[in-house]
Amino acid sequence: MALTDCPSCNKKISDKSTLCPHCNFAVGDASSEDILRKQNLQKFHRKQRVQNQSLVAMLLFITGFGFMYWGGTQPGDLQHNLAIMVSIVGFVWYIVNRVRLALLKR
Ligand SMILES: [Zn+2]
Repeated sequence: MALTDCPSCNKKISDKSTLCPHCNFAVGDASSEDILRKQNLQKFHRKQRVQNQSLVAMLLFITGFGFMYWGGTQPGDLQHNLAIMVSIVGFVWYIVNRVRLALLKR
């Protein structure tokens, strides 16, 4: 008995089983075209999720940056440090999401 990846949820299932025990995907009934379509859809959703995240990250960065400059705080203030932290987190998160997106596109 060999293990194979479920085309729907990508969990390990037996290649003998016709129904995925994790997501009830009918493996036996799926033609390769069905599987491809499902995988493309999954990829699309994943890409969208990453794109949404990178948008949030960019907003974080802009908010933190804007607050740092126009928030009326002085360097050393708690708010100033917080703003720097928020913009750094946003920036790093954005980069991470760009990398993830690049990896998904391959
Ligand atoms: Zn499954």
